[in-house]
Amino acid sequence: MKVIETVKETKAVIKALKAEGKTVGLVPTMGFLHAGHASLVKESVANNDVTIVSIFVNPTQFGPNEDLEAYPRDFESDKALLTEAGADFIFYPTPKEMYPEGFSTKVALTGLTEALCGLSRPGHFDGVATVVTKLFNIATPDRAYFGSKDYQQLQVIKRMVSDMNMDVEIVGMPIIRESDGLALSSRNVYLGADEREAALSLSRSFGIIQKELENGERDAKVIRQKVIDFIHSHKGTAVDYVELVHPAELYSLESIKGDFVTALAVKVGRARLIDNKYFTI
Ligand code: AMP
Repeated sequence: MKVIETVKETKAVIKALKAEGKTVGLVPTMGFLHAGHASLVKESVANNDVTIVSIFVNPTQFGPNEDLEAYPRDFESDKALLTEAGADFIFYPTPKEMYPEGFSTKVALTGLTEALCGLSRPGHFDGVATVVTKLFNIATPDRAYFGSKDYQQLQVIKRMVSDMNMDVEIVGMPIIRESDGLALSSRNVYLGADEREAALSLSRSFGIIQKELENGERDAKVIRQKVIDFIHSHKGTAVDYVELVHPAELYSLESIKGDFVTALAVKVGRARLIDNKYFTI
């Protein structure tokens, strides 16, 4: 596995591989990798000749009061995980390599980005769409792998690729969880023991929703409030949002008539955690 730090070298290496007819899979990440990331990498390795994983804590997707500086980093352990998962290249640029002096372009979507995390993290998805566009132009992947842990992000990327006729297949992958249900996240490292216990309220709230549906409840407001009350019954939690949304368009539902996604964002201590579940009815 080779580590490449520049855009120029990455482009040259990928161009040469593609000239040999090799297919390329890209897995964009912010590092501090865990089994969730590994599942994406393994899927790419299984379906492409070459897999490139980017590790870049992208400053443009963090708000001024967010955890850009504190975001956990451990390049040596990331390298070990990626070697084990079978990646061929790590693209590991500096912020200056990605955003040199004079950088002036932004990729922004409307609609899908005006819900859920887009409301509580203004500009976040512009940062995501911009960096992912750059990564697609640098690595020219045949396929790119994203986790449905970041459900809104996955929908935003799919829409961007479709809108802009980008020549890449977006592959969405299931959420990898701890055995007790907690969704794996690099930010789980922020959780103390009590907070980790409280963080289980996110995934456990899906059981409450399931029960409500089985009892015939279809009023989204009623279900939402039950979930909020349940989460807030755990010490140290502050709900950012709990929404029942249309699976593709992400607008909030008032009453449930078909499949929907429950998406939540909750502060637990200093960690802002997200989770979601697709419900079929
Ligand atoms: P991040 O490093 O947090 O930006 O995540 C990089 C990619 O890994 C994104 O596509 C995430 O959705 C995905 N990912 C993060 N956590 C998980 C998880 N628990 N299960 C599956 N995919 C994940």
